[in-house]
Amino acid sequence: LNLPFDPSSVKLKVGLEIHQQLDTSSKLFCSCPILKSIDLPFSFERRLSPSQSELGHIDPAAIFEYKKAKVNFYKWNPESSCLVEADEEPPHNLNEDALDTAILMALMLNAWMVDEIHVMRKIVIDGSNTSGFQRTAVVALDGELLIDEEKVGVQSITLEEDAARLIGEDRRARYFALDRLGIPLIEISLDPVVGDPDFVEEIALHLGRTLRSTGRVARGLGTIRQDLNISLLDGEVVEVKGVQKLNLVGKVVRYEAVRQMGLIKIAEEIRKRGITSINCSVKDVTKEFEITSSSVIRHALEADGKVYCVIVEKLAGLIGFEPFPGVRLGKELAEIVRANSLGGILHSDELQKQGFDKEEESRIRKAVHADENSAFILIAGEERSVTNVANLVVERLKKSIHGVPAETRAATDDGETRYMRPRPGASRMYPETDIPEIFIDYDRKQRMMKLLPIQWQQKVMDLSKRYSVSEELALQLYDSGYIDEFEAIAPRLRLNSSIVATILVEMPVRLAREGFDESTINHETIIALLHAINDGKVAKEASIDILRLIGRREASDVKEAIDKLGLLKMEEDELEKIIEEVINANSHLIAEKGDRSFSVLMGEVMKVVRGRIDGEFVSRILRAKLIEKMKDA
Ligand SMILES: [Zn+2]
Repeated sequence: LNLPFDPSSVKLKVGLEIHQQLDTSSKLFCSCPILKSIDLPFSFERRLSPSQSELGHIDPAAIFEYKKAKVNFYKWNPESSCLVEADEEPPHNLNEDALDTAILMALMLNAWMVDEIHVMRKIVIDGSNTSGFQRTAVVALDGELLIDEEKVGVQSITLEEDAARLIGEDRRARYFALDRLGIPLIEISLDPVVGDPDFVEEIALHLGRTLRSTGRVARGLGTIRQDLNISLLDGEVVEVKGVQKLNLVGKVVRYEAVRQMGLIKIAEEIRKRGITSINCSVKDVTKEFEITSSSVIRHALEADGKVYCVIVEKLAGLIGFEPFPGVRLGKELAEIVRANSLGGILHSDELQKQGFDKEEESRIRKAVHADENSAFILIAGEERSVTNVANLVVERLKKSIHGVPAETRAATDDGETRYMRPRPGASRMYPETDIPEIFIDYDRKQRMMKLLPIQWQQKVMDLSKRYSVSEELALQLYDSGYIDEFEAIAPRLRLNSSIVATILVEMPVRLAREGFDESTINHETIIALLHAINDGKVAKEASIDILRLIGRREASDVKEAIDKLGLLKMEEDELEKIIEEVINANSHLIAEKGDRSFSVLMGEVMKVVRGRIDGEFVSRILRAKLIEKMKDA
């Protein structure tokens, strides 16, 4: 995917912030183990209320969350959480093992280490911490990351606790699981780089691999998360949170660059109309919809809701205007409305597309005194939400004349971004008085110096040579985090190492793509599968079917899955019989095309035997039989 403009000509600037969970035996401030709880039998609730800072200022993001007036429900299981996570007991001392890892990273990134670790409280407003703040401690500043010849500055290396896991949200409440709260995270913030999205992705990959080379980080989906601060033309900075896959970074940066450039173009169009400030008004138009052709509005009114209309002077045509595909002011507004748990918006540039008839449109225009140069936006839903959301829509429209507003957005699974909330003010920090400071002495640094790992590039090359697998596959194996399992199992199997590596790397990816929860299929299962293939109990082509069955909990292990699928490997003489039948049935084709009939025959044979026997093996036998047949002829 190419950008429709040159990223350096628009000063595309991206700052990376990587969050990596550490593979410690317990959490950062208590002795709970790190595990994902399937059952969460206990729960309690808390409500957020914003308080003024010492300067009498209230954070805009905090007000935004408060106005949603949501209750936060925390669900937990004593196997993975205790009173510390519930904020009913003070934190214990900081996990020394986690601190060691941060020190190791500081040494690897050539950063300046602080002498004393002070744990601080950073205010969080989205309910993801039971206490309303996150504990965080700076370990080092001012390092550098070397990527080929290029240097990227490291601003800080911080140790912090992970937040609670959001498991659901509705109009009234947010639901969190406490199992993730308190898992040690290392946060590395880099200096912004200007230009190429691919280079930004390369930086992310390089940093992720450098972290992995310590052998002290967690693995699997969700254990590494990337935040990106993106701006164009030195404009407002948009914070994109939670890119879960490093290889999505480039795509997210491109999406955001196009969106921001589109907003800048929309602002230009607005100014071309001679507008210097956006004039909006809001009216309750519920009465106008006693009869309506819109099913969306009818549904809202049936639920006792209200319809508000935001009228924007002189903006007709610009709410639906699309400078780049998918970039519209209307979409921006709809995302804000959805972030506040309302369904979406209807606006005057798209009314007919949205199921209104022309007559109704002019009736509304008349009722709200909107001339044909004005645009209007309809918001329907529960009264309290509609009032709040109409104000947010007005605020957003007023900013549209300046181009890109500063906001916090969430990355989606497919590499796009969605509105979350306004950007919070500079983060407010207070000292955590429950935890004593920790001195990092010379001996400790020396001890960690001895643990400096081999560079990841070297590790990948060694792996590729030692097992005769391609460098690309070796790198995929490295990125998967399952090298140890691979090295333990590969030498003991008769299977080609490339096949072992491919199954280890590809199966979890395919299953995740099909929507299976990672926790249903662990690596022990995949290793059991490799043994079954190795022992001739099943063909490798059947791997995915077996794992799907286990993922759907229709089989408890590989053996049961093989039995259920009836995949027990066929005997060689049965295969030969099938091949002979196919050859005999196609003798005309063989007489006519000779060798070139092979792929057709192979297709016919595989139709019968697929999943029961290895494809390469079938091809070998078929080729031999075909040569025999051609000699006979
Ligand atoms: Zn705990």
